[in-house]
Order: sequence, then structure tokens, then C-alpha cells
Amino acid sequence: MIGEQEQSSTDVREEVFVVVIVMVTGATDADVERVVKELEQRGYGAHVSKGVEKTIIGAIGIKDPAEKERIAAQLQSLPIVERVVPIMRPFKLVSREWQPETTVIDVGTCKIGSRQVCVMAGPCSVESREQIIETAKAVKAAGATVLRGGAFKPRTSPYDFQGLGEEALKYLKEATEVTGLPVITEVMDVRDVELVAEHAAIFQIGTRNMQNYNLLREVGRTRTPVFLKRGMSATIEEWLKAAEYIMSEGNHQVMLCERGIRTFETAYRNSLDLNAVPTVKKLTHLPILVDPSQGTGWRDMVLPMSLAAIAAGADGLEIEVHPHPERALSDAQQQITPAEFEKLMNALRPLVEAVGRTL
Ligand code: PEP
Ligand code: MN
Repeated sequence: MIGEQEQSSTDVREEVFVVVIVMVTGATDADVERVVKELEQRGYGAHVSKGVEKTIIGAIGIKDPAEKERIAAQLQSLPIVERVVPIMRPFKLVSREWQPETTVIDVGTCKIGSRQVCVMAGPCSVESREQIIETAKAVKAAGATVLRGGAFKPRTSPYDFQGLGEEALKYLKEATEVTGLPVITEVMDVRDVELVAEHAAIFQIGTRNMQNYNLLREVGRTRTPVFLKRGMSATIEEWLKAAEYIMSEGNHQVMLCERGIRTFETAYRNSLDLNAVPTVKKLTHLPILVDPSQGTGWRDMVLPMSLAAIAAGADGLEIEVHPHPERALSDAQQQITPAEFEKLMNALRPLVEAVGRTL
């Protein structure tokens, strides 16, 4: 299932479909069958995707550009066809042409990609049982709907705290039992995919692993939602191709996260590229969230950039909250306290309403 869409069983990985046929609203099964037959008679396959309002058919196997033009024009003349869109982009399953409706991913009480803004909060790293349970209770009370916490930490230096690993996963699971909050945590290694899936509701793929294609394929073979952070030096096209890797293995529950990119600027840790939000929304149907904590690197910037992200149209936020940032074992300078998080949520509420969304 991808959001409200149903996929046919055709394996699209091996196929090239360069033409997408959008049926008119109210097209019947017989109408769809007619177009499928038209393609089959010409020697091409069809991949049918039934949405709530529209059915879309991907024409499979058309490789010759002249042939593509001719078939597009012929099918466009059918009254049951609303439009024929030739896909020129280097990604397919993630594109808006392929699926016009935004994908909605259900996690706990969150419908990520819907009108609801989803706020994920918690410490950069899980440091102890008490720390994560205390933080989980605090962020839930302030309105967060997903708990974040790193178990396996991708630290830039091998001598820095690397996370508590499996022990942290157990504490995270306990935090879910206590608060009901589903957990997002990073998976760094293909060998940990199964273990992490047993303890968490969402896989986080970190910025440093955005182009770890073996890992992308491995999480793509599961049905656990994936939170794909943008590589710190990745273009939007590279990022979307990384999402395509996951989807091409069958897991369509992918959300993107802008977390800041590397620029010449040194006044803050990363440059939070909020241009990415409307750009990505235009190109893909996948939900997009923003991480203003890694995106700025400074505690006092987290609130204003959270507001900016929602104003830009983000579907949610991932925020680092620690009960004692001054004692944090990672990212101490950017983690906010539970009290600051509560202030942030209070500032967010009127804005969320103003942009026609809910929390
Ligand atoms: C994190 O969320 O703590 C993290 C390490 O994120 P990123 O991969 O974006 O640096
Ligand atoms: Mn962090």
C-alpha cells in the first residue's frame, strides 16, 4: 500500500515506462482495461495504479522516443484519457507524475503527508533508560507524536560516543510502552535492519548513509516506513534517486527530511535549505519533513527555523530535546530542553492553524 493507492503486482524494477496515462475521473474498470489492451496490442505492458480519484497507467517498455510521441498522441485522443504525460525525469516511482496524490504514511496517531503536521522529538542519543523515559514523557506532554532517539550513532570522529546500540533499542521500546509514542531511530548497517525493525516504527537513514545503496535496498525490502535524510552534499536529484532505490525494492513508505547542507558559511553548522521543501513537493508525492536541530546546530535557532519550515510547507519536524543538554553525550549545543520544546510547540500552534493544518 502506498498512501491511499493500490499497486498492481507488476514488477516495475526491470521495466522502462516513459509514458504515464492519467484516466479521467470516474473512469470504469472497463475503460482502464481498454487502455491496457491498446498498449498490449502495440506490444507494451501496463502498470495500473488505482487512486481514490484517478487511475493512472504506466506504459511499460516504450524505449524509442518517436514511438513514445506517437503512442502518447494516439492515447490522448481517447475520451477516457485525461492526459498523457511523458516522464523525462531520472526517477519514476517517486515522481508526482507517477502518483499525483501525496503519499500518506500512518505511524501511531500521525498521518504523515496529510494536513496534520507531525512533530518527532527526543534526544540526539539515548544515553540511559531514565533519560529516554523522562524525555519521552516530557515531549509527549508538550504535543510530540513520535519519539526520536539514536541508538547507533554515526559520529564524525571514531573516538566520540557511538551510541548504546541494542541496549538503547530496548530502552526505546520501553519508552513506547510507557508513553504510546512510536519510535524513530537510525539504522546504519544492513546487519541491524531486522533488529531495529523489532524495536522501532520508523527507520532513519542518516545524512552520511543517504548514498549507501545496499542499506537503501535492504530497508526497501521491509515494510517499515523510512525517513530518508538528505546527504549533506547531495543535490535534490541525488536525494530523490536514493528514495527511488528504496521504492524500487517494494517499500513505498518513504518520507524525506531536509537537515541542512554544507556551504561556505561557518556561522552555523549547516545551511538549512528550506528551498528544498517547495521544490521537493513539486517533484515528488513523498512527504517532506525538516530537522532544524542538525540543520542549524544552535539551540537558539531551532524555534525560528521550525516555524520557517512549517511556513514553507513541511509535513513535520524532527527536533532534538534533552533534559540536560549541558550533559549530553552528542550534539549538546543544539539540543533544547523540554521547557524550550514546550515553548516551541506553543509558538507552532497558531502558525499551523494559519497555514490550514493541524498538529
Ligand atoms: C541525528 O539525527 O542525530 C543525525 C545524526 O542526523 P543526520 O544524519 O542528519 O546528521
Ligand atoms: Mn544529532
